[in-house]
Amino acid sequence: MSRAFNFSAGPAMLPEAVMRQAQAEMLNWNNTGMSVMEMSHRSKEYMAMAQHAEQTLREIMSIPDNYKVLFTHGGASLQFSAIPLNLTRPGDVVDYIVTGVWSAKAVKEAQRYVNVNVVCENHQCIPERSEWRLSPNAKYVHYTPNETIGGIEFLDIPDVGDVPLVADMSSTILSRPIDVSKFGVIYAGAQKNIGPAGLAIVIVREDLIGQAREITPVLMNWQVSADNDSMYNTPPTYAWYLAGLVFDWIKAQGGVEAMAKHNEAKAKKLYAAIDTMSFYANPVAVSERSWMNVPFTLKDPSLDGLFLEESKQAGLLNLKGHKLVGGMRASIYNAMPEEGVDALINFMQDFAQRHG
Ligand SMILES: *Cc1c(COP(=O)(O)O)cnc(C)c1O
Repeated sequence: MSRAFNFSAGPAMLPEAVMRQAQAEMLNWNNTGMSVMEMSHRSKEYMAMAQHAEQTLREIMSIPDNYKVLFTHGGASLQFSAIPLNLTRPGDVVDYIVTGVWSAKAVKEAQRYVNVNVVCENHQCIPERSEWRLSPNAKYVHYTPNETIGGIEFLDIPDVGDVPLVADMSSTILSRPIDVSKFGVIYAGAQKNIGPAGLAIVIVREDLIGQAREITPVLMNWQVSADNDSMYNTPPTYAWYLAGLVFDWIKAQGGVEAMAKHNEAKAKKLYAAIDTMSFYANPVAVSERSWMNVPFTLKDPSLDGLFLEESKQAGLLNLKGHKLVGGMRASIYNAMPEEGVDALINFMQDFAQRHG
C-alpha cells in the first residue's frame, strides 16, 4: 500500500514533509554522526534543538512571557492527576464542565484528590450557560475545548472570571489561534496535532507553579519540571524532536492562522457533504461541530462493516467510530491534506449511490 489518508483520532497522521525530514536525518542528525534518538539530552546539540522547539511553539501560539512551557511524560492523562495535585489542597473545591468522555475521565481522576463540582454534564451538546453551576470558591475550572469522541467543540472560551481556567486541548491545540492569556493551564497529549505519543505539553501561568502538594510525585510537579527545563529526568527525546519539526512546519505554512483557514475549509466541506446526503448523519449542533473530529453514522448501520472495508481499500484508513458512539469518525487534524477530505467525500458519495 502507498501512503494513505489516515483518519485515526490518535496517534494520528503527521505532516508528510516532517516524516520525510525525520527519515532523511534518521541516521545522522545535524552532522553529529548519530540519530537524535541516540543522543544525550544533556548534549549541546540536543539542548539547542529542545530550546528551538519551545521557542517556535511560543511564537506560533503567541505564548506570553509569564507562562512556562513544559514537555512532559505520560500524555494528557497524567495531567488529569497532576492538575489537582499542583493546584489544590485536600478539601478544596474545583469545577469541571463535562461535555464528553474525556472531561468525564478528568473528573474521575480529580475526585481522588479534591472535591469536584460538576458544573454541568451533557455528552451530546454544550449545556446552556444559564444551567452552569459554578462554585463561588473553586480553585480552578476545567473543561475540554474539543471532545475527541463526541466531536463537540467550544467555539469560544468560557468566561469564569478570575478563577484559573484549565483546558485539555489535546485534540484542538494548534488548530486555530487562541488567546493563551485567558487560561491558567493548557495541556495536550502530543499524538493528535503535535507529534508522537508519550509526550504532553503543559503551558502554565507562572503564579500557578510552586504550590504542589508534598506527596506529588516528582515527575508530576510542575515546579520541578520548570526549574529543570523539563529535563529532571530523561524526557521523551525523540518525540520532543519530532514535535519541534511539526512546530517549524506550522510556522512555514503560515502559523495557526493558516491552520485555521485550512481546517475550517476541510470541516465545512465534510459537514456539508454529510448534511446533503440523507444516507449520512452527524448528531452535533452546527454551532458546536468540531473542526478536528467528525463523527457520522450511516442510515443503515448494517452497512458499517462494508463501508469500513471498502474505504480501507480506497486508501482511507481508520474511519471506525469510537466504540462508545458507534458509526464512523473522520479525524482531520492539521496534517490531513484537503485532498484527503476530498477523497473521503467522493468515496462517501459513491458508496451512498451504490447502497442508498
Ligand atoms: C487523546 C485525548 C486524551 C488522552 O491522551 P493521552 O495522551 O493518551 O493520555 C485526553 N484528552 C483528550 C481530549 C484527548 O483527545
